[in-house]
Amino acid sequence: MATVIEIVVQNNLCIGCGLCAALCPQHVLSMQWNRYGELNPVEITPCTTECGLCLKICPFADHEENEDTIGRELYGNVPGIQHRSETGYYLATYVGYSERHRQTSASGGMATWLLEALLTQDVVDHVICVAPTGDPEKLFAFRVFDTSEDVRTGAGSAYYPVEMSEVIRHVLDVPGRYAITGLPCFLKAVRLAQRRNRKLRERIVVTVGLTCGQLKSTHFTDYVAALAGVQGEVTAVRYRGKSPDHPASNYHYAFTTAGGGERKIFWNEGIAEAWTNRWFTPNACNYCDDVFAECADVTCMDAWLPEYSKDSRGTSLVLVRSPAVREVLERGQGICLDPIAVEQVVQSQVGVVAIKREQLAYRLYLDHGAKMPKKRVAAERSKNPFLRQEVDLKESMRALSRKLWKAEERDGERLREVMGPDLRRLAVGKRISKIITFPIRTLRYIQRKA
Ligand SMILES: Cc1cc2nc3c(=O)[nH]c(=O)nc-3n(C[C@H](O)[C@H](O)[C@H](O)COP(=O)(O)OP(=O)(O)OC[C@H]3O[C@@H](n4cnc5c(N)ncnc54)[C@H](O)[C@@H]3O)c2cc1C
Repeated sequence: MATVIEIVVQNNLCIGCGLCAALCPQHVLSMQWNRYGELNPVEITPCTTECGLCLKICPFADHEENEDTIGRELYGNVPGIQHRSETGYYLATYVGYSERHRQTSASGGMATWLLEALLTQDVVDHVICVAPTGDPEKLFAFRVFDTSEDVRTGAGSAYYPVEMSEVIRHVLDVPGRYAITGLPCFLKAVRLAQRRNRKLRERIVVTVGLTCGQLKSTHFTDYVAALAGVQGEVTAVRYRGKSPDHPASNYHYAFTTAGGGERKIFWNEGIAEAWTNRWFTPNACNYCDDVFAECADVTCMDAWLPEYSKDSRGTSLVLVRSPAVREVLERGQGICLDPIAVEQVVQSQVGVVAIKREQLAYRLYLDHGAKMPKKRVAAERSKNPFLRQEVDLKESMRALSRKLWKAEERDGERLREVMGPDLRRLAVGKRISKIITFPIRTLRYIQRKA
């Protein structure tokens, strides 16, 4: 039987979650950096049993199970549960923040508040989340924490590769009740693993998902550091710095170097260009159709809605699937949390939904015949020439950034120069598309107001 290395890693579809390395019964897999600044499993000794477990739990391998089937089994029978194709199952949706956490958190601090509440209300004994390490070779890692103070050190978003092999081995070794945070594909891997491993099923009792548009390689951080003028080795990054004179949407990255110096760069000073054009995005993200972490008990995200994104302090949206987590939220102390319509939640991620639905359909059409995982979206050639152009150009830039970035040279300006022609064509296409669609958009606006 083939292994995850041949089917997933060699087809450039690995996201680096590390579940295969954690569960391999022969312990032949180890998570290591590849030359593109991504994490992949590597076979350290030859696999002899070929049990296929690594493939059965890989979120980007082909199996019968997907976010619909996993979600249905977990939440399909929950009283009052509802379902939408964009979000998967949902029991309730909220908007709010934790006053105590929002300054140091990515959005409104609801994820950290919830993780702490799960500990203090004795729902779990341990929290697994991501925290800075201080190690320039691996700036962030999944950690197991037992106190609120420690959990708080993980607040914020890590737009950086992290893998779960060590923490999952810890769960297998140390009994207890665990909560774990994760991106949609990581939690899909956890759910697939739980189906095949009793200890994981019994011990991981709460999963906290983060809505996700894409992951980034370490080269993304290198590139933004270069743009910010960072000299020397980066020992820490804060990706979601907040300033009272900027809206939440124009957050900054703050880099700390070995000498103790700090450099800041704002979203609109070059981060947005690299982020939205998918520079340094792993190929696996091109094949993701899960926006809202559909396998998670609860999903936290940014309130990217006009009424909230201007508030520099940040606001969270929370989509709950588990009644137990809803109870914790409803009992919430020290938080300001209001119900919000699920349509608003979907609207807050409208760009990501387009990438993981319409754009994915076109990407799958382009890959016709290639070995790609089965998706819930059918391959289709979009009728919209602007969408086709956007997907083509962004894929060209994504591939170029991956191929050309040399961490040792750190030449950010050179990379931007190379991207110049694609960026200009994309800008022209967007302008023409805006002009052509202006009457339709105006009509829709009038209809909404009427
Ligand atoms: C790669 C990535 C892409 C994202 N894309 C989107 C998006 O398109 N739209 C959107 O609305 N939100 C997105 N998010 C989520 C967003 O950045 C916030 O994490 C979310 O809004 C929660 O904010 P908070 O203030 O409630 O959480 P916080 O209080 O800041 O807590 C966040 C928790 O998540 C953990 N965490 C941080 N990074 C990771 C990681 N990489 N893997 C696992 N756990 C982690 C932290 O340890 C912490 O416990 C993304 C996050 C990541 C990491």
